[in-house]
Amino acid sequence: MTTIPSGAKYRIGGVDFAIVNDGTYWYDAGAIFGIVPRVMWERAQPELDDRYRMPLGLNCILLRSRGKTVLIEAGVGGKQGDRDNATPAEEGTLITSLAALGVAPADVDVVMNTHLHADHCGWNTIEAADGSLTPTFPNATYVINAKEWEDATHPNERTRATYLERNLSPIADRLHLADGEYQITDELIFVPTIGHTEGHSTVVIRSGQEWGVYLGDMAQHVAQLERTAWVSGLDILPLVSMETKKQLMDRAIDDQALLVFCHGAYPGVGRMTRTAEGYRKWVDEAPLPEGSK
Ligand SMILES: [Zn+2]
Repeated sequence: MTTIPSGAKYRIGGVDFAIVNDGTYWYDAGAIFGIVPRVMWERAQPELDDRYRMPLGLNCILLRSRGKTVLIEAGVGGKQGDRDNATPAEEGTLITSLAALGVAPADVDVVMNTHLHADHCGWNTIEAADGSLTPTFPNATYVINAKEWEDATHPNERTRATYLERNLSPIADRLHLADGEYQITDELIFVPTIGHTEGHSTVVIRSGQEWGVYLGDMAQHVAQLERTAWVSGLDILPLVSMETKKQLMDRAIDDQALLVFCHGAYPGVGRMTRTAEGYRKWVDEAPLPEGSK
């Protein structure tokens, strides 16, 4: 089994959390960079495999807030076919990462999906040997934006390949569908950030004077967070996406918020800064030292 790093620890105010990893997802780089010409994006992303795919991190968050154990995002999953474009190919990556932190699936109280594309909610469900599907986290409430659920369960020709029924129908009676902002605890708020999909949401962690945000699929590469016009070719509403990103990044720069980037190289945590020339620049944030209290 390939060893992947997992469990990097961070803190926002009084909230400690860990970045758990579901491996690496390989996706067509041209689709990700959209209308940006290759001669420009290949300087930011020189690494491609022989099928012109780039590696995307699958960073998820495990945190505890006010007595609740919360998993933010659920990777590509381990059902048959889920890991065809992911490495390591073995099943169990996210679940193994949680186990390393002493967390069993039954311990998780809340699962949050920023949206329901297949690389963000795969571990919502697991498949038994007889092919039957059940929720992976048997005691969890799954928090999803109401519009996202509606769109995912009524896919169209463009979205059908990524809104997979096997990730959705087994959790249909475990949902909390959020209509707009939804507070899980006073430290944890699910906030709509429209663009990648119409129901896309991010998760704000707020404690004391500090805040941070789990960005979901607001971008797939840090260069897209730095450059306003570099909007993903996967976004359903690219112009809205551009505006959403600009507003959030400006606020994050002003407040020096901690940003957790799903598809960044592990652990995908950093802060946005502004250069003397006025450009946005991502700076990686190192995890807390091992064993820090
Ligand atoms: Zn994604």
